Amino acid sequence: MANQDENHPLADTRGLIDREIPDGVDRRRFLMRAAVGGAAAVMTGCSPSPQEQTAKAVATSGSTPAPAPSAPPLAADLNVVQKEKGPVLTTLDEFYKVGPGPSSSHTIGPMRITYDFYQRATKLPADKLAKATKLQVNLFGSLSATGKGHGTERAALAGLVGKEPATVDPKFLDSLRDKPDQVFPVKLGDKSIDVSLKDVIYDATKGDFKHPNTMTVKLLAGNDVLLEQEYYSVGGGFIEWKGYTPPTKNPPKYPFSTMKQLRTYAETNKTSIAKILLANEMSIAGRSEEEVYAFVDKIINAMVATVKSGLSMPEDDVLPGPIKLHSKAATVYKRAMDDKFQSDRGIGVLSAFALAASEENGRGHLVITAPTGGSAGVMPSLVYGLLEVRKVDRQKVRDGMLAAAAVGYLCKHHATLSAAEGGCQAEIGVASSMAAALTATAFDAPPLVVENAAESALEHHLGMTCDPVAGYVQVPCIERCAFGAVKAWTAYAIASNEIASRHRIDFDETVAALAQTAKDMNSKYKETSEAGLALSVTLC
Ligand code: SF4
Repeated sequence: MANQDENHPLADTRGLIDREIPDGVDRRRFLMRAAVGGAAAVMTGCSPSPQEQTAKAVATSGSTPAPAPSAPPLAADLNVVQKEKGPVLTTLDEFYKVGPGPSSSHTIGPMRITYDFYQRATKLPADKLAKATKLQVNLFGSLSATGKGHGTERAALAGLVGKEPATVDPKFLDSLRDKPDQVFPVKLGDKSIDVSLKDVIYDATKGDFKHPNTMTVKLLAGNDVLLEQEYYSVGGGFIEWKGYTPPTKNPPKYPFSTMKQLRTYAETNKTSIAKILLANEMSIAGRSEEEVYAFVDKIINAMVATVKSGLSMPEDDVLPGPIKLHSKAATVYKRAMDDKFQSDRGIGVLSAFALAASEENGRGHLVITAPTGGSAGVMPSLVYGLLEVRKVDRQKVRDGMLAAAAVGYLCKHHATLSAAEGGCQAEIGVASSMAAALTATAFDAPPLVVENAAESALEHHLGMTCDPVAGYVQVPCIERCAFGAVKAWTAYAIASNEIASRHRIDFDETVAALAQTAKDMNSKYKETSEAGLALSVTLC
């Protein structure tokens, strides 16, 4: 229905066409952006001023009609680009990481980076440290474009003052948000350097970066640089730096770089995908079986804790940020439990578990990368459901965690886990695929069914873009975790009920499609908040 307010810029579309186009702005792009924003305003009933709409359209239309970029600007020498050539060597402790939300690439990665720099700086000779006057962090690319919504500056500062992601008290990060002027002394040798959020600079969002998530950290003596390092937060909390060489590892017992190879090992040895992964973990990392399972237990317990914590939050809790999103996990859980239909109850509580863990991520509380912070509701939802509701034997859930890791490793190996490289298919899509493998393994499905379940869940996320509203990992992210969890269950349900050998698509083929789609996806849909919901949603 047409808007009848004659002052509203969309009261009549002729008014939109007649609106003056600001100097230096491409007319077609400006009108398209203004129309999207205006249409959203009509549908939502929000009425931003014409000036606000114009400003938003200008900000997102660009001053020149740049062709839509189609490939993420990844340097060929990055390990994250090169590593697909050999066998998978990722280990569980590299993959499943505990840290503060809301984003593995924008909070856990940057915090690991500044913590790494802090460690390097402490090793400088005393005479150099004696000259130091300042520490400075510069954020580039996607880290700069959407970092504010993720609290990247707080995470970066926390690492700089010597806090580690897995053990940082989320209240410390909350205090940086509530009292942003705080100053902290950083001890370097005999020197103490004061740092604050002002030392973390949101720099250029566009440029010739090796990776979309690039940052530099410097130790300065006046204008002289004593130590400088360029880093990349390459997704899932993994980090690299200029000149990075991956650590030397022992060879895996069962070298694989495809799901087909992995499944063949399992079938030939009459065992499961999980047990093959266990053997590799033991040989690559030099750990005993007990040590591997102890780590897996730690991650399972953290996942259960994040769901419990999320469910315990009051129903009227409002998440940080401009969206003012109300928590809904507890409400969905309670109402689902009252549902008279058992199947509806199942879907409702599974969704509630995912919402609970994902809302914890939105609060900046501790979450587990599986594979990322944005997708941190998916795996915990299934883990919690299997352990606490279905009462599945813990060992089966442990094995499920190993099979899920194999799925994540392969996606990282051949495609990406980073929304800045591949959109949301790389986060929620991979998480859902992992959760499908977890579920199938926990229910003793044979290797081919595990593969088929993982394939199906990934397949039905291909092409999904990343467009967080206002740069906050809340909309669409929180509900998207619930959908990822339910899709994982659906994928398992289909895979375990079809004739497995007739499943038409291999997991490896779908991972190849994920990689190609990531390359072809317009960069506006890769965590830039320049398109999709980030553009069409009008906050009011
Ligand atoms: S839209 Fe998806 S990929 Fe993007 S921040 Fe949200 S969960 Fe992550």
